[in-house]
Formats: sequence, C-alpha cells, structure tokens
Amino acid sequence: MPSRTAPTTPGIYRAAVTRTERLTPSFQRVTVAGPELDRFDFMGYDHWFRLFLQLPHQAELRLPRSTGATWWPQHLAVPADERPHLANYTVAEFRPATTHGGAELDIDFVVHRGPDGELEGGAAVWACSARPGDAIGVLDQGLIFDRPDDATETVIVADESGLPAVCGVLRSLPDDAVGTVIQEVPTAADRRELDAPRGVDVRWVVRDDAHPAGAGALAELTRRIAVDPLAYGFVVGESALATGGRRHLRRLGVPKDRITFSGFWKRAKEARVAS
Ligand SMILES: Cc1cc2nc3c(=O)[nH]c(=O)nc-3n(C[C@H](O)[C@H](O)[C@H](O)COP(=O)(O)OP(=O)(O)OC[C@H]3O[C@@H](n4cnc5c(N)ncnc54)[C@H](O)[C@@H]3O)c2cc1C
Repeated sequence: MPSRTAPTTPGIYRAAVTRTERLTPSFQRVTVAGPELDRFDFMGYDHWFRLFLQLPHQAELRLPRSTGATWWPQHLAVPADERPHLANYTVAEFRPATTHGGAELDIDFVVHRGPDGELEGGAAVWACSARPGDAIGVLDQGLIFDRPDDATETVIVADESGLPAVCGVLRSLPDDAVGTVIQEVPTAADRRELDAPRGVDVRWVVRDDAHPAGAGALAELTRRIAVDPLAYGFVVGESALATGGRRHLRRLGVPKDRITFSGFWKRAKEARVAS
C-alpha cells in the first residue's frame, strides 16, 4: 500500500476536508481539496465516484493501488480495522484549479436516520462529524446518465440520494432539452433552486411520513399515462423506486435500452413498510 505521501494511481485521488455545511435539513455538504484533485477530469452530469473514508481510529488512509477490476480485491485485502469505509457518491459541484487556488469538490451526503431517529450509515455519520484535514480518497467512476442523442424527451425520477446527480444532469443538459424531473425529498426545506433547461418541468414530491422513501416519486411517475417512445428515462434512488420506475416506463413503451435505472441504496428489510 502507498504511504500517505506517495503519488496515487491515475483515477484515484487523495484529498482532505476543507469545510462542511448543513445545506438543508437532510443534506450535509462536505468540501474537499488537495493537489491531486487538480487533475480530476470532471465530466459534468452525474459524475460519480467511490469514496474512501479514513475512520477516526485509523492511522492512515489505505487506498487501492489500481483502478479497473483489481481495486476491489485490493480493498478487501486490507485488514478489517485498517480498511477505510467505502460508499458511492456523486460530484455535487467541482471547481477546477485556478491561479488563485486548487480544485475543490463538494459532496452532498444525505443525512439518513434509523427507525429510532438516530443518525445511521458510516458515510452519513462521518460527514456530520467531518473536520478540516480529515483524509478521503476518490476512485473516479465516470457517468451513469446515458441519454441517446435522438432523445425527444428526458424523464428523470429520483429520491434524495439522487438529488446531487439530478442537479448535475440538469446543469449539463443542452439548453433545448425537454422533459420532466420528479424529485422526492424528505422535507419541504430540502427543495432547492435547480439550474434546469427551460423545457424541463421540475416537480418536487415532499415525502409523506406514512410512506417509505421513493414511494411518492414512484406514485407521481405512475400517474403518467403516455410517454414518447423516443424518450430517455433515468431513475435512481432506493432500489424499489429504481426497479418500479423502470417497470412503469417499460409499460409506457420506452425501450429498455433507453432507460437507465440504478438502486442507489436498499432499505433494510425490517424497515420496509407494507404498501
Ligand atoms: C452512483 C451512486 C451515486 C450516489 N450518490 C450519492 C450522493 O451524492 N449522495 C448521497 O447521499 N448518496 C448517494 N448515493 C447513495 C449512497 O451510496 C448510499 O446511500 C450509501 O448506502 C450511503 O452509505 P452509508 O455508509 O451512509 O450507509 P450504509 O452503511 O451503506 O447503510 C446503513 C443503513 O442506512 C440505510 N441507508 C443507506 N442510504 C440511505 C439513504 N439515502 N436514505 C435512508 N437510508 C439509507 C441502509 O439501508 C442501511 O440500513 C449514491 C449511490 C450510487 C450507486
């Protein structure tokens, strides 16, 4: 494993926390920077990465030596108590290096809670107590969003874990793009200004506490009874939202190769609410 000062493999970047901010009730923004991030090749849209977190009891951040298929066995080969916490995140914002300073990357963490209201999840807990200087690693994974050039409309459905991706996609779409975004958030105060093309209709769905995450967005999508067969669908969030959203778009006639769906997280079985 490389020492903390060794140059990291291309595609893997070491950085450190510079500041944190509670953006809205359910989002903790953590900003990271470091000389290696200056060469991060930001692609816009939903650019995502594997995030490695050095935990408080760990003496150093142990990152894989390579990208491609071999990084995972290398990560697993690190003894459990020295292994960093690993989770998937999206670039919320990226500011490239300028003559005034190095590059900065923002990560928006959903502050998710367990059944008793306690903060849960290694990454969410880390984000809420992160301090300037805390070490992280980024393994670049590129884009999932894959809209065909001939898409006549874009239908995007997400829960809060997909909001950073939705923000990035809307910022990156061409100005003449048309479509709909159905974005679910836990509270009304989690809604934010979105930089969307004029032809994209953004519908916020504020979660009803009686329903599990993703159910509101899925219900809103299933109200839709027609969609252009040349549409492109992008559905991300809790696993049931991703699969249910894909199923509905298929029913409306969108071919499967024009739908991207991804389960960003999976609700624990005991927390499932009967619908
Ligand atoms: C490509 C991709 C990009 C992603 N981008 C982001 C992003 O930018 N911001 C973001 O917040 N998440 C994002 N996610 C989702 C994130 O990876 C998961 O939520 C992850 O489980 C969080 O890790 P953790 O260590 O906090 O929780 P874990 O240790 O993985 O999970 C602990 C418990 O928390 C529950 N849980 C996990 N996530 C959530 C949640 N969002 N809401 C409620 N309960 C949850 C799990 O069911 C489990 O019971 C992304 C996922 C993917 C695949």
